[in-house]
Amino acid sequence: MKRSLFLKFLLAYILFGVLGFVSIARLSSDMTYRYLIREQANNLYSEATLISTSYSDSQSLYLSEEMINEQMKAVSTFLHVEIWLVDRDGMIISDSRQELKKGQTIQSFDPTMTGNQRYLEGDFHGMFSEPVLTVAAPITRGYSTRGYVLIHMPVQNILASQFEILNIVYITGLIIFLLSLIILLVFYIIVYRPLRRITEGAMRYAEGDYSYRIRSRSHDEMGYLAETLNFMSEEIAKADDYQRQFVANISHDFRSPLTSIKGYLEAILDGTIPKELEEKYLLRLIAETERLTKLTQSMLSLNSTEQKGLLMRTNFDINRVIKEVCASFEMTCRKKNMTFELTFAARKEMVYGDYAKLQQVLYNLIDNALKFSDPSTSILIRTGRSGTKVFVSVKDSGIGIRKRDLQKIWDRFYKTDQSRGRDKQGTGLGLAIVKSIVSAHGENIDCVSTEGVGTEFTFTLPAAQQEIG
Ligand code: ATP
Ligand code: MG
Repeated sequence: MKRSLFLKFLLAYILFGVLGFVSIARLSSDMTYRYLIREQANNLYSEATLISTSYSDSQSLYLSEEMINEQMKAVSTFLHVEIWLVDRDGMIISDSRQELKKGQTIQSFDPTMTGNQRYLEGDFHGMFSEPVLTVAAPITRGYSTRGYVLIHMPVQNILASQFEILNIVYITGLIIFLLSLIILLVFYIIVYRPLRRITEGAMRYAEGDYSYRIRSRSHDEMGYLAETLNFMSEEIAKADDYQRQFVANISHDFRSPLTSIKGYLEAILDGTIPKELEEKYLLRLIAETERLTKLTQSMLSLNSTEQKGLLMRTNFDINRVIKEVCASFEMTCRKKNMTFELTFAARKEMVYGDYAKLQQVLYNLIDNALKFSDPSTSILIRTGRSGTKVFVSVKDSGIGIRKRDLQKIWDRFYKTDQSRGRDKQGTGLGLAIVKSIVSAHGENIDCVSTEGVGTEFTFTLPAAQQEIG
């Protein structure tokens, strides 16, 4: 996983940090600078106006010069600024900084230089080596302007304040950036790590390792996904096992009759079986081929009922079907001296289902009951109605089924050890077919059995619908 989700998130996070920082720096530095300049210019302008008013009120520009100069110096030291007194032509009359520029004339001096802004930024006509912020206030006496008070403040001073404000902004930005790391951490714990585990699990399943379990403790969608995948792998493992078992059983069940057929045929061909006994062995061959035919038919029947929707439903009397199936077992019954006891709640019990398939169900159940019972016992068959359902039960007093086998009897090819001794012809498909037919009708079949006492199979069927029947 070269480009992991986490890496992408991390890159996005870093990009967010860098872009956020750059835009905050760009915007806030510009805004604070503009704000500070405006603020300072206003302050300086108020100061300049204050000084110019002092001059305007005094009698002459030169009269109280010393006193005013004192005031200028005090303001200049306090505000770290340079204050000039300039006459109308731009000649510097007084300078707060040791009179260094006194007597100099400002080239192309223009009193309206500041315009609406009230301030000017720059080196002020080349008179400063570093950029300064300049404000000018006129000194008026009567109705005429006598001169100007100019205050210059090095931009450097403003930059220092700006730097301090920006520092606060940057530190706040950094704290927010670091706090947002929590989101990344939460993403890592809640999404990324479980996703890694799920991906790892999916890879293992793809490699066929269905025993792998995805660890998950969360109860959110991720946990649910992990649980679902775990369940899926269990089901696949079961299906896999079942498939393997199925193929093994088919091969086994097909191989044994084929081996005996081959053995008998070779024996007949090479004369091991004498001519007079050939007929006896040919009859055995027929029995074996019949077994193969039964096996194939059973598998086909199982396949067709499992593809639902193939039922040919009609309304018919299930009691009549039971009587018919019982009649077909007459010969077997006579041989084993067994009897059927039929107990019907009503003379007719109309059901809605597939006639031929339900006939097969009854055939398989009665066949089992006869096969797994001792001679001279009887088989009890009951039908009755409860609500919209009709129930049918087939009960014998035979060998019974052990508790641990009860769950498995419905599996394809499953035969209990006891039955293997009794019935070598059985395929173990009978009950699988029964179950699939009953399920296709949307109904249930249940088995209650006690070893050595007997077995009872009960299944339900939908009662015939009145309007149709
Ligand atoms: P087939 O039905 O193809 O002849 P089978 O009868 O052996 O073969 P199922 O009908 O599927 O196969 O039955 C599965 C197993 O369940 C039987 O082999 C037997 O061990 C057991 N079983 C079924 N019915 C009874 C019963 N009435 N009494 C005792 N055991 C039974
Ligand atoms: Mg059977």
